[in-house]
Amino acid sequence: MEIIDGNKIAAEIVAELKAEVAAIPGRKPCLALVRVGEDPASVSYVRKKEMTSAEVGIASRVILPPVSSTQAELFALIDRLNADPGVDGILVQSPLPAGIDELEIFRRIAPGKDVDGLGTVNLGKVAQDDDTGFISCTPAGIMTLLARSGVDLKGRHVVVVGRSLLVGKPVALLVLQKRSGANGTVTVCHSATANLASLTRQADVLIAAIGRPEFITADMVKPGAVVIDVGINRVPDASKKSGYRLVGDVHFASVAPLAAKITPVPGGVGPLTVALLMKNTVKAWRQGRPA
Ligand code: NAP
Repeated sequence: MEIIDGNKIAAEIVAELKAEVAAIPGRKPCLALVRVGEDPASVSYVRKKEMTSAEVGIASRVILPPVSSTQAELFALIDRLNADPGVDGILVQSPLPAGIDELEIFRRIAPGKDVDGLGTVNLGKVAQDDDTGFISCTPAGIMTLLARSGVDLKGRHVVVVGRSLLVGKPVALLVLQKRSGANGTVTVCHSATANLASLTRQADVLIAAIGRPEFITADMVKPGAVVIDVGINRVPDASKKSGYRLVGDVHFASVAPLAAKITPVPGGVGPLTVALLMKNTVKAWRQGRPA
């Protein structure tokens, strides 16, 4: 069994980007990070994105609209950032407060600045195998993690548990793409799937994006499978200073001994999500350059 080291792979990508950005003369790429409200996970994700931007040499602007912001006020903010020639990429941290239509906010971001890849145009390009767009960062991170770990999906049965717009659906489309490293056969499962374990047990590669702590147990995994755990769940733990610990959607202790390769939580998919956001921001800068 091999534990896939997401921190190491993300650090390689960050180092590559750092060299690329260092060679850019003049104005460096700039990422606008919008966080509305004080959700603790969002605070920590945005801080991490800000820190990694600094490491790469990307300028970041953290914008903190009040939690009472209306949909119209957030649209106006996005419109200003869309029109700002000094901003290359815009990321609006999910979740947004109740009452805000998150999807409409994602759709409002100009496709050329939609570095989180959640707008209609960029998600559509994934379905069209068109790589001029931005692939949303977690699915892109999963594909990068697999490729850099030497896992070729061609002809393999990939079972994705979860069908969210953020992870499950786009990763299923990426695995299906007719390109090197992809070409997998995909089954997508969700909360209405019957006999879930009988499907997950058929997976050569199992991708768990469910949001339920340690949901995938050893009896649901075929020996020798590659297991990608996307879940990040906070479970109460009085022994920790923070009062909680992070666990994935996979019961790591029982599944790891069976797996050929497995990602840990933390230190698996999470760091790749941030690294791919940086990559998309540099790509946005390049595409926004006059010819
Ligand atoms: P989500 O929007 O809540 O989607 C969860 C999916 O799991 C849904 O499609 C849901 O089915 C399915 N599901 C829930 N219970 C199930 C069950 N009992 N059996 C089968 N399917 C079930 O969550 P998400 O945004 O995709 O995120 C999933 C997890 O990944 C979360 O823990 C999140 O924190 C984590 N995450 C991590 C990263 C990272 O960087 N590592 C990035 C994003 C998300 P229905 O569609 O039928 O409801």
